[in-house]
Amino acid sequence: MQSRFQDNFVAPNLSDPRLASKRAYRMLIDGRSVDAQSGETITRESPGHRGKAVGEWPAGSAADAELAITAARRAFDTGAWPRMSGAERSTILHAVATKILEHVDELGLIECLETGKPLEQAKAEIGYCADLWNYAAGQSRGLEGSTHNAIGESRLGLVLREPAGVVGIITPWNFPFIIVSERVPWALGAGCTVVVKPSEFTSGTTIRLAELAVEAGLPPGVFNVITGYGPAVGQVLAEDPRVDVLAFTGSVRVGTTLAGLAAAGVKRVGLELGGKGPQIVFADADLDAAADGIAYGVYHNAGQCCISGSRLIVENSIRQPLLERVLELSRKLPFGDPLGAGTRFGAMVTRNHLEKVASYVAAGINEGAELLLGGDMVDAKSGNFFAPTVFDKVRPDMAIAQEEIFGPVLATIGFDTPEEAVALANGTPFGLSASVWSRDLENAIQTTRKLRAGRCWINSVIDGTPELPIGGYKKSGTGRELGRFGFDEYSQFKGLHMTLGRGQPWFQH
Ligand code: NAD
Repeated sequence: MQSRFQDNFVAPNLSDPRLASKRAYRMLIDGRSVDAQSGETITRESPGHRGKAVGEWPAGSAADAELAITAARRAFDTGAWPRMSGAERSTILHAVATKILEHVDELGLIECLETGKPLEQAKAEIGYCADLWNYAAGQSRGLEGSTHNAIGESRLGLVLREPAGVVGIITPWNFPFIIVSERVPWALGAGCTVVVKPSEFTSGTTIRLAELAVEAGLPPGVFNVITGYGPAVGQVLAEDPRVDVLAFTGSVRVGTTLAGLAAAGVKRVGLELGGKGPQIVFADADLDAAADGIAYGVYHNAGQCCISGSRLIVENSIRQPLLERVLELSRKLPFGDPLGAGTRFGAMVTRNHLEKVASYVAAGINEGAELLLGGDMVDAKSGNFFAPTVFDKVRPDMAIAQEEIFGPVLATIGFDTPEEAVALANGTPFGLSASVWSRDLENAIQTTRKLRAGRCWINSVIDGTPELPIGGYKKSGTGRELGRFGFDEYSQFKGLHMTLGRGQPWFQH
């Protein structure tokens, strides 16, 4: 039943002129571009074009991170940014959004070549990020506290919203520009200063973003970027007491380690971690729409999405017709060269990750799941490509049903009753996202209410907008980003009690 994907694999063109040069970057500390003090660098090869170096940035150390924290601390404690009016900050954040839009082609190409995602997808993501910056810019002007005027005639209470301080932001490789843009404008909008540590695999667009922000008028030291390996340079952001908030996005393993380190300093931590998104399909669903959504949910970004819909939880009465539709789409889907026109998904981030995905497929077969399609690396000598892969007859206790594979691998589990569907959907340690497919809106809403996941969709998947919050239940994380909630993560709230007149004396003579 397996296909060798001769028709829909887009072989990478290693002579594409866009691969001809490697871009060199420097870190941005206190408004200046700097190398690592050690002089060491990291070279990034395109994951979709084996042997083609596309970027190089400093391999920083703890000493570099400390310089960035010093700059951010100074900019917060004595600089203009936290003291500006909301209107002034908003104007600069809008100007950053404009700069992003002016550089969509440049940023999109960098993102494509460093991550392995299709160029058109990368450009669309950059455009979406301008919207994130514009939304945060607009909202930041209206940030407010509250008043308490009913606590007694001689008393008035105010809740003052203040910026939380210096924020350390650590980001992963799968959506480098989106994730940094889901955090930084909210932190800056609240009046904080930031030190960002992007993934060692995909640092280019984050550095360019900080450079564009300086060009847009952001004062020096407000947005610093340090690059390098996590333990060497990122860990300092969890440990250094001069960092007030740590916002980490990445794996559960690293997130829990950093949260433990931050706890020793009683540091506020936001964690956006992994997921194992269920897609529940009821028998009354529009099967064509659901099949399209299932393909998108599992193959988008080659399955390297924290909010992937990687578990198909389908009512048994429609399991066969739905799987047939999903398989048909999977056989047609153009995948491969990230620079290829029409490619729908590209390469896995690294060779190691490609092998990890393959090992999950092997575990699924060993545990008795039925492989309907794919399961192989494709043209691995040219790039990190993995075929669209569909499993049926998956048991909920199997590794492929419980663990985040982070690849284009769908695990199908059948159900007979709505209660069973909800129990299956909630039956992993994660709770990041979930989809429900049904034409019966009442059933869909009632099902969604029972799901323990921070981002839910009805008749869609992997949708997002700056207005709605994101974040996890259970091991998928703590805290909420985006919307109005996102500003609270980067704000302190001070209770101010005022006495009007003499008030009530404590001691009467
Ligand atoms: P990762 O945890 O390996 O790395 C994330 C970041 O942490 C990188 O910048 C890395 O350099 C840094 N890091 C690694 N070890 C560190 C240490 N000891 N101290 C400080 N920093 C350290 O994750 P990844 O492989 O880059 O990304 C994939 C993971 O991210 C997946 O689990 C995915 O689900 C998750 N993710 C979550 C969301 C979300 O919003 N919930 C979004 C995207 C990705």
